[in-house]
Amino acid sequence: MDYDFLIVGSGISGCTIAEQLASKSQKILIIDKRNHIGGNLYDEYDQNNVLIHKYGPHIFHTNSKIVFDYLSKFTEWIKYEHKVVAFVDNKYVPIPINRNTLNLIFNLNLKTDEEATQYLNKIKEDKIIKNSRDVVISKVGNELYKKLFEGYTKKQWGISPENLLPEITKRIPVRINTDDRYFTDIYQYMPKNGYTAMIKKMLSNENITTLINTDFKDLDKKIHYKNLIYTGPIDYFFDYKYGKLQYRSIIFEFERYNKSHYQDYAVVNYPDEKVKYTRITEFKYLTGQNIDKTTIVKEYPTNIGEEYYPILTEANIDLYKKYKLEADKLPNTTFIGRLAEFKYYNIDQAVASALLLSKKIIKEFD
Ligand SMILES: Cc1cc2nc3c(=O)[nH]c(=O)nc-3n(C[C@H](O)[C@H](O)[C@H](O)COP(=O)(O)OP(=O)(O)OC[C@H]3O[C@@H](n4cnc5c(N)ncnc54)[C@H](O)[C@@H]3O)c2cc1C
Repeated sequence: MDYDFLIVGSGISGCTIAEQLASKSQKILIIDKRNHIGGNLYDEYDQNNVLIHKYGPHIFHTNSKIVFDYLSKFTEWIKYEHKVVAFVDNKYVPIPINRNTLNLIFNLNLKTDEEATQYLNKIKEDKIIKNSRDVVISKVGNELYKKLFEGYTKKQWGISPENLLPEITKRIPVRINTDDRYFTDIYQYMPKNGYTAMIKKMLSNENITTLINTDFKDLDKKIHYKNLIYTGPIDYFFDYKYGKLQYRSIIFEFERYNKSHYQDYAVVNYPDEKVKYTRITEFKYLTGQNIDKTTIVKEYPTNIGEEYYPILTEANIDLYKKYKLEADKLPNTTFIGRLAEFKYYNIDQAVASALLLSKKIIKEFD
């Protein structure tokens, strides 16, 4: 069998490229080693008939009209503005930190943005930024760092914030107003029928053949392709010849209940190090499902298991660069996506990057 492109990985990166190239009459084979399409966006109905996200809660948000318009070709949306609280000192406080968080934690009554700014100026500390801890303390001071960040970050990364690059916490917002939305993007929606339904539609072009339960390295030798788009782990592609890139993984423990709700919030973070999980998500809040049963997921970070979050230490970044040098030498082969680029991508960033690459490829053969 002959294909123009083999795409390894049916996550949102691979599927966007498959869809774009197939619409230009390219014959595409897209494969995935898992037993389903969709990559980490995969969702399914569980035995409670609750739509769950198998690889943890995925909330779509973007400022890009191009990405939103593109995905809107494959799904309708429901409006959803994500909210997260942290359980600390026996209280539920908004995350990211805003004026209400300050009032609740420090028993204050800050009424204006100016008052919140003044208070933050009082508690934040001047720091030379060398690591993730310095970033947080320089924004909100030591007490909030201890209560909200230290334990959570240690659990999440398995490393103390002092040993993590500043990038990890650099983008954490601190608000002086009372906006308690987790994201402030222009477009905040969830796919009406779920991500898997959206992805199925993306792959519905007759020029696309989909093969699941198929690892790239076990692909039938009778299959021929002119070009390769690889979205799997870059170190695996090269048989780990320089060593293994480190990722943080997560064990997802799902619990099902015969009641309409488990908690009052979509996501509750548990910064306390004594609590082994980092957060609890109740899916119905995200998907808007209105049924009398519910399913939650607890997340236990771990070093063993599927690759989820690239651990951005200098050693890992240097190792990635070695693989990238090799990858750049390969003809007709492109590495893209969160695993192939060893990079944390949000959904919209993955789509934007895949659309750009597709455009470049199409220009070459148009
Ligand atoms: C816990 C968690 C929560 C997240 N929450 C959000 C969120 O709320 N909002 C947001 O915007 N983003 C979120 N993200 C990021 C989001 O998951 C990524 O943007 C998205 O998955 C990137 O898609 P991808 O196609 O690059 O990678 P993936 O979705 O990982 O797809 C890669 C695919 O390649 C397959 N593959 C790998 N190796 C091989 C091989 N050798 N052979 C065949 N197939 C292979 C894998 O099975 C996988 O299906 C979250 C990520 C995680 C880990």
